[in-house]
Amino acid sequence: MGKVKFFHICALNLSPLLRQLSDGEGQGAEVKKLNMKVYKFGGTSVGSPDNMRMVMKIITDGEQKLVVLSAMSGTTNSLLQISGAIASGEKENAAGIASQLEKKYEKVVSELYANEVSRQKAMAVVYEVFGLIRSFFDIPYTEKTEKVIVAQGELISTQLFTLLMVEAGFSTVLLPALDFMRVDDERAAYLPAIRTLLAELMGSSPEVDYYITQGFICRNPQGEIDNLERGGSDYTASLIGAAINSEEIQIWTDIDGFHNNDPRYVDHTRKIDQLSFLEAAELAYFGAKILHPQTVLPARVQNIPVRLKNTMNPSDSGTLITTESDGTGIKAVAAKDGITAIKIRSARMLMAYGFLKRVFEIFEKYKTPIDMISTSEVAVSLTIDNTKFLDQISEELLAFGEVEVDRDMSIICIVGDIITEETGFASRVFNALDGIPIRMISYGGSRFNISVLVPTAHKKSTLQTLSDKLLN
Ligand code: ASP
Ligand code: MG
Repeated sequence: MGKVKFFHICALNLSPLLRQLSDGEGQGAEVKKLNMKVYKFGGTSVGSPDNMRMVMKIITDGEQKLVVLSAMSGTTNSLLQISGAIASGEKENAAGIASQLEKKYEKVVSELYANEVSRQKAMAVVYEVFGLIRSFFDIPYTEKTEKVIVAQGELISTQLFTLLMVEAGFSTVLLPALDFMRVDDERAAYLPAIRTLLAELMGSSPEVDYYITQGFICRNPQGEIDNLERGGSDYTASLIGAAINSEEIQIWTDIDGFHNNDPRYVDHTRKIDQLSFLEAAELAYFGAKILHPQTVLPARVQNIPVRLKNTMNPSDSGTLITTESDGTGIKAVAAKDGITAIKIRSARMLMAYGFLKRVFEIFEKYKTPIDMISTSEVAVSLTIDNTKFLDQISEELLAFGEVEVDRDMSIICIVGDIITEETGFASRVFNALDGIPIRMISYGGSRFNISVLVPTAHKKSTLQTLSDKLLN
């Protein structure tokens, strides 16, 4: 297998998984694909009884498959609010949010099932989960509290859905993700364990048509409940796809696939039919909210096609992501908000070596990934999106010279297969950006991406002008 290149500094975080995948522990594309697809449905897809029934209709086509579900939409946010309230000692507030959420589930259960037996089983699930949540109100809050509470969203949705499938007479089994999803000490997915444990679990019920499991949740090396971070259900699906060497991974959401620009800010966007893994990774990382950025990697290394599909419009072919790019040129633009730019100006950088290394070491020390970087002889600018340690980082950077921090910036990412474009490409991009106050540019770092940093106040106009001048 060829060497895998990193496309962003932050991708270094993935190195344990990359190592597992490319060391032969991940068996690579040569191994025969399992004739089974992995389907993942997001929060809106399971967000109401009607939508759950729609999901049931989509998956029950007679082909054996493994189905990953998110929590019902809104639930994860509410669970985080509950745990936040417990953390700050606001027990009544926590109880209020929990009761509201519980009522929502009582309503879902009352509308979801055809018979009383299923309804009672489902209510028992709901009461057990909310009983567990309330048990945290009177004990001291620890880090584990949040992890356990936030895991309940996927635990409920999958149990309610499995009951629905069983009631409808489908051969279905719930595979508990906590029994096979594993992360290592760095909270990076640990594929060898996932592969072995999942194979054992599936092996003990081989005749089942539909395997259901939870996205997002996992256990850490201490055996405690943990998670793959917000939006992590997509990542679960691709890890499972890689673990069983599935023939295809389908990510079902509430939009037809990747669009060539952000439909929330720009009129007349178009769906993209096909993207390469590398183009999709850039788009997912830089803002196109449809796919969790880490999702592409396991699929790409095992060469498993990923298809993005719309639960509300299942006949649409969606976006297909494979090794093939759909020709050269610009495919899409996307924006990532909440970016902070840091400029370090230092006379000592002049003609010196080892300077950048020492700058990077500070970011490494605070486990803060860097997205964009641009340097001159006397200054270096870089961007971060995790500002948890910004004060400490700025403080330490002062040892090198002046430090300037700009908040509320957005990275605008222009994605495509760009290098083979005729000359004049850069000037087309820059002409399109005429009138936009650009703070940084990254060009040539990757053949699939050109990034510019603009104040978030100018994001919408930047996206619109790029759409008008480059995409249409
Ligand atoms: N439920 C989790 C979240 O809202 C994971 C997911 O939906 O992908 O972040
Ligand atoms: Mg999602």
